[in-house]
Parts: sequence; structure tokens; C-alpha cells
Amino acid sequence: MIIRLAKHSGFCFGVRRAIQLAVEAVQEGQPVYSLGELIHNPQYVQEMESRGVRVASSAESLHDSTVIIRSHGITKQQHEKLLEQGNIVIDATCPYVSKTHELIRQANIDGYPVLILGDAEHPEVIGMRSYGNQETLVVAPDEDVPNISSKRLCVISQTTQKLGHLNKLVQQLIPKVMELKVYNTICLATSQRQHSSQCLAMNSDLIIVIGGKQSSNTKMLSKLCSEYCPTVHIETEEELEPSVLSGKMRIGLAAGASTPENRIVDVYNKILKINGEEDLATSIQSIPLFKEESC
Ligand code: SF4
Repeated sequence: MIIRLAKHSGFCFGVRRAIQLAVEAVQEGQPVYSLGELIHNPQYVQEMESRGVRVASSAESLHDSTVIIRSHGITKQQHEKLLEQGNIVIDATCPYVSKTHELIRQANIDGYPVLILGDAEHPEVIGMRSYGNQETLVVAPDEDVPNISSKRLCVISQTTQKLGHLNKLVQQLIPKVMELKVYNTICLATSQRQHSSQCLAMNSDLIIVIGGKQSSNTKMLSKLCSEYCPTVHIETEEELEPSVLSGKMRIGLAAGASTPENRIVDVYNKILKINGEEDLATSIQSIPLFKEESC
């Protein structure tokens, strides 16, 4: 059996930055709250809680506290509320997400209604939408394009969407509107993780995707990989059933942008143990990477 890890796996720049800011804030000795879970990974959220980062569910409940905004951002109204209520706000919104807020705001100023490609229920998209005017719409990749009454339109993407979905949406809109402004705001970390996981899936008998079940980018990896080979999505090594490895010679590991390295190592080691091997990995660097040149 060979086990290989997708070349781009695990924490992205925005998540690392948010965690770093949270850790620094806790070191100041004050209680720190994150508005919503800091990252979409329940085990890591628990770990952060034990280090002093508590999760708050609403901006209204926070007064005179230190509050960290997670990497996928919050709504404009929540941000204003936090400031109004005397909180010290540490803005760990990923700069790529903040950029979408600015583009949406500017598009409206320039007279373009905005259509967001993404999951309307996802906090990142809820945040993005709040920076637009009343006309701002959201469409998911599998939904029909809404009726557009305006002659001009600005299309912008949730950072974790697939480029093919954005392309498809643009093709559908071209006959419907006279003037189309398109921002490709899919972030590089997302496309890299998607590409390297897909390549690995093409060359594997089984893909194990590791990451939060609520993580949008991890779910997308699982969906993409399943187009090429059997795929299982797990959060921790405990969920890995030995039976899924049966008869599989080439095992691929992929992990979303909010998956900590130790989770990946734990899953790798569990596979080794199932195989009766004793020489376990001590860090992510010990896991062989899949070389993508052939894709
Ligand atoms: S996936 Fe991209 S946009 Fe989202 S937090 Fe990471 S770097 Fe930022």
C-alpha cells in the first residue's frame, strides 16, 4: 500500500493568520471571544477554547471585551455593533475576504447590482452580502440563475468556489445582461487545494479527505475527489473504518484549508497501524507528498 498526501493540504494563509492573532491576543492575559467558531474544525475550536478563546454566538452578547473576527468575516452590522458596545475588535478577516467586501461596496457605488456565486447560508457569503445593497443576490452553483432586471451586473465569487462554476455562471449570464463585470475572487489556496486533490484522486484507489464537516472548502474537496475515485470525508482518525481500506493499494490524503496538521498526521498513522506498521510519522513532513507533474 502507498499513502500519499496532496501537495497543497491543510491550513491556508488566512486561517494561520487568524489563529496567530487569536493566540497573541490570549497571551495578553485578557479573555478573548471569537464571534462564531474561529475555524470550521470542531476539534481545533475546542483546543483553542482550552487556551482561552471562547466562542460567542452573537455580537449583541459582547460588551467591553476583546473580540476576534474569524477568517471568513462577519457582517457589516455585526462589526458596527461590536464597536458600539465598547469591544476591542481584532480583525482576522482574511484579506482576500475583505477584498470581496470592498469590491461589492464599490460595484454598488458604480451602479452595478451584485450577484454572489456561493452558498447563501455560509457565514462568508452572509458577510459579503451585508456589504451590498438591497438588490444583492446569491446563487449557488446548482441553482438556476435568477431573473436579472438590470442591464448591468457585477458577479463575484465566494472565495472557496470552483472556477468551473464561475465560468458556467458567466456563460449563462452573458445572454441576459448587456454589461457584465466579473471578479474572480476564488483564492489561490482554494484552487491549489482543489487541483492537487483532484490530481491525487486521479491516481488513487481511495481518497480520505480530512477536515470539518461544516467546512465549505473541505466539502468541495470531497465532492471533487469523488468524481475520480471512492472518497470518504472524516474529521478525525477515529472515524476511519479499517474496512474502507480493504483492497485499496493507493491511498490519497487530502485536507481542507481549516484542517490542522496534527489531524492529518493522526489519520496517516492510523492507516499505518491498521497495516501493522510501527514506524509512525512524527510530523506532516514525514508523509510522502504526491508529485503532481503528471497531471
Ligand atoms: S481559503 Fe483563501 S480566502 Fe479563505 S481564509 Fe484561506 S486564504 Fe483566505
